[in-house]
Amino acid sequence: MSNNLQPGNRSSIIPILAIVIPCYNEEAVLHISARRLLDMLSQLQASNMCSPHSFLVFVDDGSDDSTWDIITSLSEKHSGKVRGVRLTRNFGHQAALIAGLEYVRGKCDIAVTIDADLQDDISVIEQMIIKYREGDEIVLGVRTMRENDSFLKRWTAIQYYRLMKLLGVNLIINHADFRMMSARILEYLERFPEYHLFLRAMIMMLHNRIGIVTYHRASRLAGETKYNLRKMVSLGWDGITSFSVVPLRLIMCLGAIIFVFSIIIAIHALIAKINGHVVPGWTSVVVPLYSIGGLIMFSLGIVGEYIGKIFIEVKHRPRFLVDSIMEGKRKQEKDAR
Ligand code: UDP
Ligand code: MG
Repeated sequence: MSNNLQPGNRSSIIPILAIVIPCYNEEAVLHISARRLLDMLSQLQASNMCSPHSFLVFVDDGSDDSTWDIITSLSEKHSGKVRGVRLTRNFGHQAALIAGLEYVRGKCDIAVTIDADLQDDISVIEQMIIKYREGDEIVLGVRTMRENDSFLKRWTAIQYYRLMKLLGVNLIINHADFRMMSARILEYLERFPEYHLFLRAMIMMLHNRIGIVTYHRASRLAGETKYNLRKMVSLGWDGITSFSVVPLRLIMCLGAIIFVFSIIIAIHALIAKINGHVVPGWTSVVVPLYSIGGLIMFSLGIVGEYIGKIFIEVKHRPRFLVDSIMEGKRKQEKDAR
């Protein structure tokens, strides 16, 4: 393996490519996805774009359908080419990605992560390799259009990117988790042991050699989306609270504004008292009472969110636990690494 090659020496390298595919109840698509990915690997090998030692890793994120059975049978059939990592339960998409990336670290020159439903266009992986050879450490897949998403999903996505920009988080619009990373990026990732993962923001902090390839996102091959509303909101929230402290600063600014405002009111009340104009001011008492009370509760809630994150982070709990690993005929039972 040509681990950690400097960008300058890469133009003629034939890299070992590892493709990481997180799967949660994906029995409906797995056979066809594996077929397409294996065909693509053969083509890339035939044109010397990737090494014959390249392989696929399916990460079973605690599925309760036949996903793991399919992965093990594929692994037995395509020994070495198809591998499987089974997590002990459902840890979520981002954790499954990290589990796969940890597994391939040290075993490949480049890793590509892609969803099991192949909504992302696998033919651009070749362009990703070309960009790697040109010296890019990270290559992001960016979808050009989102016409396969519902209007609501598109609209919320746009608003979310806007909000993240305002909050100072560096994100590439319309890039999700289809990306290529070099071996050295996998090593850098190891040094980000945070529990609340939002890889698309984290990846932007690792290196400035970031390339982009664009593609047209298709609809799901089969099956249903595994990202329910709860998972989506939780990912979005993690993105904000793990990468931006702007909400905390906003609270401080708000507090400062209210403080100035209350001084003005106090002066006004004092002058009124001196001049003897003290009217029974019900409104001026009740309105600030409720509004400031509400604001304090809201602010406390935001502060609480961050404290909650710290609470979880300081425990250093593992982000995932591996139940077993399948490498062809070889099956290893695992506990936590
Ligand atoms: N996924 C996962 N764990 C989860 C949810 C999803 O590993 O808890 C995987 C899923 O199998 C798929 C990828 O994450 O490979 C993206 O999910 P999906 O395609 O359902 O999301 P969408 O494209 O609808 O946003
Ligand atoms: Mg999908």
